[in-house]
Amino acid sequence: MKFGGTSMAGTERIRRVANIVRRHQEAGHEVAVVVSAMAGETDRLVNFCREANPLYDPAEYDVVVASGEQVTAGLLALTLQAMGCKARSWLGWQLPIHTDDAYAKARIGTIDADNLAASMAAGEIAVIPGFQGLSEANRITTLGRGGSDTSAVAVAAAVKADRCDIYTDVDGVYTTDPRIVAKAKKLKYVTYEEMLELASVGSKVLQTRSVSLAMKEGVRVQVLSSFIDDDAPLADTIPGTMIVSDEELEGLDMESQLITGIAADKNEAKVTLTRVADRPGAVAAIFGPLADANINVDMIIQNIAKDKGETDVTFTVTQADLVRAQALLEGRKDAIGYYRMLTDPKVAKISVVGVGMRSHAGVAADMFKALADRGINIQAISTSEIKVSVLIDADETELAVRVLHTAYGLDAAA
Ligand code: ADP
Ligand code: ASP
Ligand code: MG
Repeated sequence: MKFGGTSMAGTERIRRVANIVRRHQEAGHEVAVVVSAMAGETDRLVNFCREANPLYDPAEYDVVVASGEQVTAGLLALTLQAMGCKARSWLGWQLPIHTDDAYAKARIGTIDADNLAASMAAGEIAVIPGFQGLSEANRITTLGRGGSDTSAVAVAAAVKADRCDIYTDVDGVYTTDPRIVAKAKKLKYVTYEEMLELASVGSKVLQTRSVSLAMKEGVRVQVLSSFIDDDAPLADTIPGTMIVSDEELEGLDMESQLITGIAADKNEAKVTLTRVADRPGAVAAIFGPLADANINVDMIIQNIAKDKGETDVTFTVTQADLVRAQALLEGRKDAIGYYRMLTDPKVAKISVVGVGMRSHAGVAADMFKALADRGINIQAISTSEIKVSVLIDADETELAVRVLHTAYGLDAAA
C-alpha cells in the first residue's frame, strides 16, 4: 500500500491512513506500506536547497529532501502502534534499497527484502519511506519527484506482493487531470503501455518509472483514493483503476477508444541555440555533454540550414535542469560554436495518448486542427507509436487540454 503526500498531510490524515492499513491487515493481508512526505514538504525542502546554492550538489540535495519521508514513516508507525497494531519503520538505508549514484534521480537496483519479509510474516506492518535509497558509495539518494510510487512498486516486486495499491487524492486514473477538466472520465482499466506514455508526458498520478518497473516485474498496480469513509469497501473489490496488460484488456472486451488520455506538462523549458554550424558532429557536441551531466533532453528540432551553413537547434529540458544546462552550454560556447542561447520556461507540452493510434491515421492532424481553430500556436512537435505531443505557450495549457478532450469525444456525459 502506498500513500501520497495529501494522504499523509498531518496527524488527522495519517490516522485515516492507519485505519485503512489496519482494516486490510485485519482482512488477512500481510502489509508493507510506503509513504510520501506531507504535501508541500518536499517543495519546501527543495526551495531551501535552491536558496543555499542554486547550482546545488545533487548528493547534498538528496540528504535534505529525503528527510520529509523519514518523518511521515515514523509518524505512521507511531499512529499504527497507538491503534494497537505491531508496526515499525524501515528507512531506505536500513533495508537497504540499493540505487545507482545518479543523485536526485537515482534508479533502484535491488532491495534486500529478507528483513522485510520476516517482519511482515511475523504480523508486523512494515512502514517504508518512499523516494529514498542508498547509493553504491553509501550515500542517501532520492528517486526524482513523485518517486514514492516507484519505491512502492519496487517493494511490491521484492516481496512478491499480490498487488500494489497506490492510494492518492483522486479515485483512479482519468482521461485527463480531473482537477483541470471537470468532464474527465474515470478509467476502470488502463494498459501499462498507455499509462507509461501518459505518465511520461505529464500525468503525474504515477511516476513514469513506477509504471515501467511494474510492467517489467509484472506487478499488479491499482490507483485508488485514500479519501474514503471508514467503512468503504476494501481495495480487494478494485474500486480504483487497474493497470493491465494488452492481453488482459482484450479479455475484458472493453469498448475501444481511439484516444485513452490527454496530459499536460508545464515542467519543461525550451532552449534554442542560434546559428549552430551545419556540419557533422555539431549536434553531438551539444547533446553529448548534456547526457554526461545526466540532463535529459526531450523534444528536439533542428531547423533547415540557412544559406550560411548555419542552423538553429531547439530542444527542451526539465525546468529543474535548466540552470545547469545553461551553465554547461555557456561554458562550451566556443567548442559548440553557436551565436546566442535563448531560453523560455513558459512553455507547456500537451500530449494525446492511445493504443488506437496504431491502426488509425489522422490523430495528429485532428489535434493540430483543433488547436489551430482556437488560435493556439504550436512551437514543437514529437510523436511515438501511441502518442502525439505539441509544445505551446504555458498560458494556453488548460484551454488546449479542454479543447482536445472535447475534440476526441472524451467528455463525460453531463
Ligand atoms: P500523491 O501525492 O498521492 O502521489 P500526486 O499529486 O502525485 O498524488 O498525483 C495525484 C494527482 O494527479 C491528482 O490529484 C490529479 O490532479 C493528478 N492527475 C494528473 N493527471 C491525472 C489523470 N489522468 N488521472 C487522475 N489524476 C491525474
Ligand atoms: N515527496 C516526494 C515528492 O514530492 C516523493 C513523492 O511524494 O512521491 O516528489
Ligand atoms: Mg505522486
